[in-house]
Amino acid sequence: MHKKVVIIGSGPAGLTSALYAARASLEPLVIRGLHPGGLIATTSEVENYPGFPESIGGYELAELMEKQASRFGAEFLSSIVARVDLTQRPFMLTTDSGDTIMADVLIISTGASPRKLDVPGEEQLANRGVSYCATCDGFFFRDKRVVVVGGGNSALDEGLFLTRFVSELVIVHRRDQLRADPILQERAFENPKVRFVWDSTVSEVLGDERVTGVRLTNLKTGEESILETDGVFPYIGHLPNTTLFKGQITLDENGYIVTDGRTRTNIPGVFAAGDVVDHIYRQAITAAGEGCMAAMEATWFLSEAEYAAKKQAGEPVDEGIAPALGQW
Ligand code: NAP
Repeated sequence: MHKKVVIIGSGPAGLTSALYAARASLEPLVIRGLHPGGLIATTSEVENYPGFPESIGGYELAELMEKQASRFGAEFLSSIVARVDLTQRPFMLTTDSGDTIMADVLIISTGASPRKLDVPGEEQLANRGVSYCATCDGFFFRDKRVVVVGGGNSALDEGLFLTRFVSELVIVHRRDQLRADPILQERAFENPKVRFVWDSTVSEVLGDERVTGVRLTNLKTGEESILETDGVFPYIGHLPNTTLFKGQITLDENGYIVTDGRTRTNIPGVFAAGDVVDHIYRQAITAAGEGCMAAMEATWFLSEAEYAAKKQAGEPVDEGIAPALGQW
């Protein structure tokens, strides 16, 4: 299969790329990946995506985005990309079932996954008290006690956001010093709803139907204790889904894809959008915005490549677009 535009990942970034590329008549192919719909599809209710005053289910939002892109000719493949060869254009992708897909342009929107605590109970109680998105789910913990795990900027930033709703926020950190910026530390120390449990980790999430507590282990004394809580928000970092591209695309020290602010990577014709690039905002709406940018950049790139190829072959070209090409 040879496509002009292939998009890897089907979260808001990938689906918005698909919509724009499809409306540019590029008939993009979206390879859905491991988590169709991306992280947003795992969120019960989305109240901060513009256009849905009564909120919308995360899964439903992703489904609607896919439907909208399909309407303009985007195709979807439920598959996982196992290998990419970006050494020459067209780029070569190999799926886990061994199929080969050639792509003139590639848009990477593989997202990032929250780093898991990897303790008993965490997986079973996901979306039933365990959440990785305070912005999405904080509202459901009004007047409840909630535990945040971690001592970085995300833990404190998201924890402070949670204090708008919760009655008590307990931040469990594995050391006795925070990694977060001083200004966030100051705000957390000053906030009467915030309490810290130092030198400790959550070693088990407790509950049957919903989270009822956590087992804490003090790393200095080895002592175990139970803390009753209604929610657990692990903020122990994110892992960008970039293993596939290591050694081929420039990544930063945390493994995120480096772009030039216009979604362009170090490889001409390869663009990246959403959480695989962005470690700051991580919102569906910002990912969608970047997806739009990536598709527009891809469209311009293809026009430019087509113009250059025709010119080289001595074929007639549309000189009308030549002045714009330089700006792209
Ligand atoms: P981070 O800075 O890597 O912090 C992760 C935190 O989780 C650290 O405190 C770490 O402890 C702890 N941790 C890691 N693995 C753990 C484990 N297995 N068990 C228990 N605790 C564990 O990640 P982040 O907070 O998600 O931030 C990621 C990036 O986004 C950073 O560059 C951050 O500055 C940026 N960010 C910025 C803002 C802002 O400026 N407002 C907001 C959010 C994120 P140790 O400290 O002991 O290593």
